[in-house]
Amino acid sequence: MDIPRIFTITESAHRIHNPFTPEKFATLGEALRLKSGARILDLGSGSGEMLCTWARDYGVVGTGIDMSQLFTEQAKQRARELGVDDQVKFIHDDAAGYVADEKVDVAACVGATWIAGGVAGTIELLARSLRAGGIILIGEPYWRQLPPTEDVAKGCLANAISDFLMLPELLASFDHVGCDVVEMVLADQDGWDRYEAAKWLTMRLWLEANPDDEFAKEVRAKLTTEPGRYAAFTREFLGWGVFALMPR
Ligand code: SAH
Repeated sequence: MDIPRIFTITESAHRIHNPFTPEKFATLGEALRLKSGARILDLGSGSGEMLCTWARDYGVVGTGIDMSQLFTEQAKQRARELGVDDQVKFIHDDAAGYVADEKVDVAACVGATWIAGGVAGTIELLARSLRAGGIILIGEPYWRQLPPTEDVAKGCLANAISDFLMLPELLASFDHVGCDVVEMVLADQDGWDRYEAAKWLTMRLWLEANPDDEFAKEVRAKLTTEPGRYAAFTREFLGWGVFALMPR
């Protein structure tokens, strides 16, 4: 079981697989007023940077589940590097339907809400692991500017304009499923550059090391077109944020 190989090629050197920076994760951790010993569940934990740095900085404990074998290995490695491998655990598995044995203080899905069929389904899934009074974290894109045409949405690698909402509507959608929005930290264009532009150097170095790989043609084509596509579309139109919710 694994995610499509193209992601593990282009994002193999990323510690954070979304437009957040280490500073944004630190801001979010502080905003949540995390207490030492707080228990966190993270579905789609990627390379584990959120859990590992919060374990180091705030003394939290937790479990991350991710379908990428490579990212899960990197998460375990990062936990050892930061000396928090007794506080955090990473499991290589499909997170669809995953419910924690022991209720958690924070239940998170940061940039992988397709795991439960979208934002509403993911909130419902996370709520099943959450203690009363706990916090749900959802990382999700929104339109900074509404794309004028469906082609512009496709340029942002969305299927359609209807894939995402504008920020006020996204916030209202949390209210509609019975949650208070109690905090949020939004990514910015510099963060998008870190996420997207870092893929370009990774692709170039991968191509030099793997010229005969069956993916080389696809990666070559992507490296050529991605900077222009990103600058014209994603960077201008797509926002991203992490929203802290408390069920009412
Ligand atoms: N939250 C992480 C990663 C976000 S990227 C971070 O902030 O860095 C989305 C992640 O979801 C990837 O790591 C991908 O491997 C993982 N993923 C995709 N489908 C999944 C599934 N069904 N179950 C668990 N993880 C999944």
